[in-house]
Amino acid sequence: MLKIGLTGGIGAGKSTVSEILAGYGAVIIDADKIAREVVAAGEPLLDDLAERFGEDVIAADGALDRAQLAAAAFADEESTAALNALMHPAIRDRTTEHFARHSGAGVVVHDVPLLVENAMTPAYHLNLLVDVPAELRLERLMSARGMTRDDAESRIARQASDEQRYAVCDVIIDNAGAVSATQDRVADLVEDRILPFAANLEARRRAERGAVELLDPAGQDWPMQAQRIIAKLHHGIGRQFRLDHIGSTAVPGLAAKNVIDLQLLVPDLDTARELSVQLADLGYPGSDGVDNLGEGQLESKRFHANSDPGQAVNLHVRAEDSVGAVFARGFVELLCTDAAERARYAQLKRALADEHAGAAQSDMYAQAKESYFLTMRRRLVPASFG
Ligand code: ADP
Repeated sequence: MLKIGLTGGIGAGKSTVSEILAGYGAVIIDADKIAREVVAAGEPLLDDLAERFGEDVIAADGALDRAQLAAAAFADEESTAALNALMHPAIRDRTTEHFARHSGAGVVVHDVPLLVENAMTPAYHLNLLVDVPAELRLERLMSARGMTRDDAESRIARQASDEQRYAVCDVIIDNAGAVSATQDRVADLVEDRILPFAANLEARRRAERGAVELLDPAGQDWPMQAQRIIAKLHHGIGRQFRLDHIGSTAVPGLAAKNVIDLQLLVPDLDTARELSVQLADLGYPGSDGVDNLGEGQLESKRFHANSDPGQAVNLHVRAEDSVGAVFARGFVELLCTDAAERARYAQLKRALADEHAGAAQSDMYAQAKESYFLTMRRRLVPASFG
């Protein structure tokens, strides 16, 4: 199951986008609806609320009296905390039930207004942001939903900023134009990314990779992309495993292929194999691999890569004391701190990329870098030479 988080500021058009996604067969789980569901008449949570905040919070017809609850629960911080302590587990459990009910679905979209505020994005394969400038959201809330300017403004002010959302969401859906333009954008997203991602995930296979091309680092947000992936991996496998952004995309100012390299450190490769299914379910299927240390020396690792056709990732799973692991970290550190070395490496990469331009795969490119890496290994991991 491909799990998608969908969010956006109030009035951005989440409902509009979730309807479009539903039209392509995605199951929609609506967080607002669940928040209402758990306090519907007859729900056990109502009794707990009445016990804590008084019988007045239940109206004569057995439904929740929201105004009464708000008056009691927002009276002081302790009451608000008590309300959250009752509401959150109920919502969480009900959400889990909804996901379980659709466990056979290919794509499930969780529509959560406060996805970013509640730091929930790491739990999803992909997070979609419905993006509309705040001023236009304000207008839409006033015209389409009849809110007053003050009300709309204060709601927007209480939510995350656009920058906070950009940092943690993977895909931005611009909904500032006509709904038909958004429909086209979502149609492309479904066809090019969501459906192939879901199919790859199901089959536990990698997405196809295009040709090698060096990109100018200006305007790329590789470190932010890497942090999003690391957050997802840590959420999925636990924080006890160290994860680092390595390779050229981790070095500010260095031209690189649009591939995020990550290194997951494990005590040994048996542990790596035990993580294999979890990593595949997170969107990173893998197999045994080797690092070519040069001079005919090979070192075992596990190599995982992206099921998502929209984001190329090489996930190197290495034993924490391996030569490859120590080298990868040392090399990034060196390139980040030593401008001359960075320039030398950039030049080498450029020369090799030009020489092999048009090669579909990077085999030759990788081989040609070998002698350079051997030299660097002498410098960074001298103990690895007997
Ligand atoms: P959200 O669920 O994110 O709060 P909605 O989907 O309810 O936002 O959209 C807010 C309002 O803006 C709705 O009345 C909706 O019909 C309208 N709307 C959504 N997308 C557009 C668009 N592209 N152009 C004009 N109005 C839109």
